[in-house]
Amino acid sequence: MGNKCNIVRDLLPSYIDHLCSQDSIHFIEEHINTCKKCREVLENMKNDVDISVEIDEVYKVEVKRPFQKVSRFFNEQKKLTKYLFLSTLFSLLFGFIFLTHSIIKFSEYNEEVSEFEVVDKEKDAIMYDVFHILGSSTEVTEKEEKQLLTIFKKYNEKLNLLAVFSAADIEDWLKENASVKQKPTTIYPIEYKKADTVIGNEGILRKNEPITPSGYDLGTVVMANKLWVIQYEYKNSYEHTVEKHHQLTYYGPNTWSIFQAPILLFTLFSVLLIFWLVLRRQNKRLKDVMG
Ligand SMILES: [Zn+2]
Repeated sequence: MGNKCNIVRDLLPSYIDHLCSQDSIHFIEEHINTCKKCREVLENMKNDVDISVEIDEVYKVEVKRPFQKVSRFFNEQKKLTKYLFLSTLFSLLFGFIFLTHSIIKFSEYNEEVSEFEVVDKEKDAIMYDVFHILGSSTEVTEKEEKQLLTIFKKYNEKLNLLAVFSAADIEDWLKENASVKQKPTTIYPIEYKKADTVIGNEGILRKNEPITPSGYDLGTVVMANKLWVIQYEYKNSYEHTVEKHHQLTYYGPNTWSIFQAPILLFTLFSVLLIFWLVLRRQNKRLKDVMG
């Protein structure tokens, strides 16, 4: 191995990487054409480089594969985040639509309630008026009858019959129906023939006149104090209002049932919003990691 061989071999790595000057290339190639040993060294070096390039490629693929998986996952998650965002928006939108609907329904319901509250107020008013007239007397005088007639006329459009009983006359009935002492009570009517005075549309009804009580189960209201029991019966035409009042009081919708739909939708919205925010944050982090 001559002196030239040493120089050429020092230069070979640079030659392979195309870093040599034109003169060096000329010098190397001229030598390699004549020196078999140096040619072999060059071939070996080239092969080594090829192998290392191949290894590089394999390495890149190995590294790339999980990266591609993550990137696919990232894309899927971005899609999911988008759908989640849309669902969140829709639940909010529908929440507001249903809320508007519920508010309208609620105010309508309240209006109805206050409209039918009149029925309750009237019950108290009628009873108060009649008890006030009777006062502490033990028999209904003619003067009192006339006053009762005035009251009946006042509620003419609503009342069919108004009767006054002496508490002493229906003691047994009162024992069984003690609730009428507390407040105006809707109850099965007391027989009118036991009454002291009965007033109807034609005025004072005589005791020997047969009176058929209303068959409507919400049609008669009774209240008692120590001396007197007052019973009145609604007109058929007013029964519809009484019925509606009863329905609303006992079977009307409650606030929860009116606002159920928007409450559920807003709850859904909150849950979706939280999920969306979490996913969005995660996506941001992933994006940072992936560059
Ligand atoms: Zn050589």
